[in-house]
Amino acid sequence: MKTQDRYNQVTARFEQAMPVAETELHYDSPFQLLVAVILSAQCTDKRVNMVTPALFSAYPDADAMAAATADDLLRYIHSVSYPNSKSQHLAAMARMLVSDFGGVVPDNIDDLQRLPGVGRKTANVMAAVAFNLPAMPVDTHVFRVSNRIGLTRHSKTPLETERTLVAHIPPEKLSTAHHWLILHGRYVCQARKPKCDHCCISDLCVYHNSSEKSRKVKGGDA
Ligand code: SF4
Repeated sequence: MKTQDRYNQVTARFEQAMPVAETELHYDSPFQLLVAVILSAQCTDKRVNMVTPALFSAYPDADAMAAATADDLLRYIHSVSYPNSKSQHLAAMARMLVSDFGGVVPDNIDDLQRLPGVGRKTANVMAAVAFNLPAMPVDTHVFRVSNRIGLTRHSKTPLETERTLVAHIPPEKLSTAHHWLILHGRYVCQARKPKCDHCCISDLCVYHNSSEKSRKVKGGDA
């Protein structure tokens, strides 16, 4: 199958299977989404959603959080992964938002990446989710699932995966495609045990079809 055909068919199937695909993080503003995304690094959205209601109630916006110390924030986020460095990043990020951006989250990748605790993936999530811009954040799920399906081949870095996906998915579908790949990786194409028997794209998947083939060869029926 030609690569672009695989993309077209996979996105059509996902569109049918997941007509509504959005982030599972809870937030009420771009600032709160940014805080939640920083907290979600190496941590589950479920865990982040458990700590953010109290955090956002105490520090609802950049001005309020900029007045807090990292220790103040740590009390609210101690149960997420890497709480010490994340509390420092959040305090510094809020201060820079206030000092350099008038307390408003910037809507472009370059400015976003200037903020403490914000790397390319987080900046892309903000662009795609908060500002509905054509961006493809690549996390561990997107990286793994794209490779298994055959949307990328032997991609070595998230940046390589991002570039390949951006080159093949129409700009207006990128943001939703990012959610499709994450949700598919979280609930179906899981890292250790992909649920291929319940997968809506198994007939299009390179990983599944090559393991099926090798199983048949080992079983002697090919
Ligand atoms: S067929 Fe299996 S490996 Fe392929 S995308 Fe579906 S769950 Fe993942």
